[in-house]
Amino acid sequence: MSITENIARVREQIASAAWRTGRRPEDLTLMAVSKTFPPAAIREAYDAGLRVFGENRVQEFSSKAEELGDLQDAQWHMIGHLQANKNLKAAELFSAVDSLDSLRLAERLNAAGQTLQKTLRVMIEINVGGEAAKSGVAPESPELEAILQAASRLPNLSICGLMTIPPLTEDPQLARPYFRRLREVSELIALRHLRAVDMATLSMGMSHDFEVAIEEGSTCVRVGTAIFGERNKTAH
Ligand SMILES: *Cc1c(COP(=O)(O)O)cnc(C)c1O
Repeated sequence: MSITENIARVREQIASAAWRTGRRPEDLTLMAVSKTFPPAAIREAYDAGLRVFGENRVQEFSSKAEELGDLQDAQWHMIGHLQANKNLKAAELFSAVDSLDSLRLAERLNAAGQTLQKTLRVMIEINVGGEAAKSGVAPESPELEAILQAASRLPNLSICGLMTIPPLTEDPQLARPYFRRLREVSELIALRHLRAVDMATLSMGMSHDFEVAIEEGSTCVRVGTAIFGERNKTAH
């Protein structure tokens, strides 16, 4: 199957999951997670109509970005953990960082945004499963509260929602409670911080579980394998 055919299939699956739950497919964003794949693969996805791409390493994307400079309306999202020394580079290359996981990082990205005179869209990554090996802030943690409180004094950041990666399960149905939890966290934040932060985006669902995530309210699914094929496991 080609990338173009894969995208057509994923779109159909997204549409039927959306209709099943009374939502419109056009209200959902399909993000193509292109990490480990070359610029030519990204271009094929772009030609098939996709505009939102996710990458998880600054260095890797930096070397691909030059070849993709002509895709003016593409949006590049950083979806992996950001190391402190890569903040400025990340703010330069990406239009959004979906993996904000500390107040410190928020402050640094805001400073980078100031330097570049650019407003970065960010999503707060929530570790819904409480897994030690995963990044993200815990729901209802002091760190999450600190980020939300700081939002109004970080003018170069625009918080637009939450992102999560639930614990890996064989059966996608087992991810459902985690997706539900993310939606609850998002609704609580929207109630409590109405003016300071926008909670419109819920980024949840990957190749094996995006249909369940859509049923639980996802507005953006991040799909890699189902579009580009298996990744080289040693690379990531
Ligand atoms: C790699 C990755 C994805 C895509 O995973 P697939 O299972 O290949 O669809 C989604 N989100 C994040 C944060 C990732 O790192």
